[in-house]
Amino acid sequence: AEINNNGSSKISVKTPKIKFTKLFINGEFVDSVSGRTFETIDPRTEEVIANIAEGDKEDVDLAVNAARFAFDHGPWPRFSGSERGKIMMKFVDLVLENLEELAALDAIDAGKVFEHGKARDVPFAASILRYYAGAADKIHGKTMKMANQLQGYTLYEPIGVVGHIIPWNFPISMFFFKASPAMAAGCTMVIKPAEQSPLSALFCAHLAKLAGVPDGVINVVTGFGTTAGAAISSHMDIDCVSFTGSTEVGRLVMQAAATSNLKSVSLELGGKSPLIIFDDVDVDSIVNLALLGSFANKGEFCVCSSRIFVQEGIYEEFITKFAKGAKEITVGDPFDPKTRQGPQVDKQQYEKVLSYIEHGKRQGATLLTGGKPCGKKGYYIEPTIFTNVADDMLIATDEIFGPVISVFKFKTIEEAIVRANSTRYGLAAGIATNDLNIANTVSRSLRAGIVWINCYLVFDPDAPYGGYKGSGFGREFGMEGLYKYLQVKSVITPIHNSPW
Ligand code: NAD
Repeated sequence: AEINNNGSSKISVKTPKIKFTKLFINGEFVDSVSGRTFETIDPRTEEVIANIAEGDKEDVDLAVNAARFAFDHGPWPRFSGSERGKIMMKFVDLVLENLEELAALDAIDAGKVFEHGKARDVPFAASILRYYAGAADKIHGKTMKMANQLQGYTLYEPIGVVGHIIPWNFPISMFFFKASPAMAAGCTMVIKPAEQSPLSALFCAHLAKLAGVPDGVINVVTGFGTTAGAAISSHMDIDCVSFTGSTEVGRLVMQAAATSNLKSVSLELGGKSPLIIFDDVDVDSIVNLALLGSFANKGEFCVCSSRIFVQEGIYEEFITKFAKGAKEITVGDPFDPKTRQGPQVDKQQYEKVLSYIEHGKRQGATLLTGGKPCGKKGYYIEPTIFTNVADDMLIATDEIFGPVISVFKFKTIEEAIVRANSTRYGLAAGIATNDLNIANTVSRSLRAGIVWINCYLVFDPDAPYGGYKGSGFGREFGMEGLYKYLQVKSVITPIHNSPW
């Protein structure tokens, strides 16, 4: 990999001035009750970007009180859907007007490539918000002609106060994946961004206010998981918690929901997604697909194609070209237009990824390319590929959440299906073939919430997305993503003296 960064700021793109560092509660930026702050670190330089208010249980209580008041007495749930939709559309406009600044905040805070943020993350976040703005006035129940001289209808009502706990790998996107459907439903909410990447969420809270979102509807509490996060999942006055993050923490969130007030839970967790490549494909184009599925966002994405199964006929050609492509990925400063891969989000993640690489070597897998840190400063790691990986090695079973990919060889369709499914996860999968019959058979056989055929990493606001098995439950996007923020109520009335 070509290294164009030595940790100093040679790149001339202006990094944004940090405007918002406090909690956003009831429409105001406020200090934490304790007055404590925490540092958010620039993964390019390992230096402090800003001190952020450290929210804890007392701050979550204040945010929940604001959200509860806004739900019980405020206009938001009482607006017509089209009134909510109109404000949400204004919010979309503001997000797009501030596209560069938002992308830059995620670049310095989470090491995300600035150009990708501008071209993908922020526009996609806006498209999610627009989709749900359009859905806000299309929430309908049904009428029921019932037995015994009864008639009934269902009402879809907002579930109430929602707690959103989000990770650091797509800070701005996740903010809108969570907030948009809950807003459309008429809910109010407390959002806790990841401690590694709080900046864009605070900026979005400011934009929400400018758009006219009433006070208390969106509250943002920055802070740590075991304090602020746990206070959300165990809160007695939060009606629903929507969590994206690791499987271990997902389990804790569900336990806390069960032992507190039985709030409803949705979990978007990790993955170890297979990409199965059959030998009828054009190898060059599939190599590009595999590079995208493997190394986009430095491998820090839950649907990463971290297990690539290649049919034996094209295996040698594939790994040669795949390794060449990985070596050509420019790793460096996220603001450099040449960069395709930025630094891992923080020191912990960086060390975790490197330790998996050591495991792979120690357990006897072949390091085909990469495997080393790069740059003098910052959390940069070379795109790394292992071959000769046994299905039960740690690098084959665990989610690494970094640019480390295992490639496996297979012979038959049946074998590919069994091996692809033999994981505790079930988030995504990819199939590359020109044979429609293979594509149909394999896509129905895979236990995963999203299956991409001859594409990878393709999302659309209309296509629900979420996990099977240990990857969690509940869906984001589509109308499925809206209904988890709604309660259904049956209203039943007798009919007197009807001959029908
Ligand atoms: P994490 O689970 O450590 O943290 C996620 C969020 O949970 C953060 O906001 C964190 O502060 C909070 N948290 C931590 N401990 C908590 C607790 N005890 N109670 C309540 N909240 C707590 O995960 P991470 O390291 O930030 O993110 C990486 C993981 O997230 C990966 O495993 C990845 O697969 C997963 N992920 C999944 C998806 C998806 O859509 N399925 C998307 C992105 C990331």
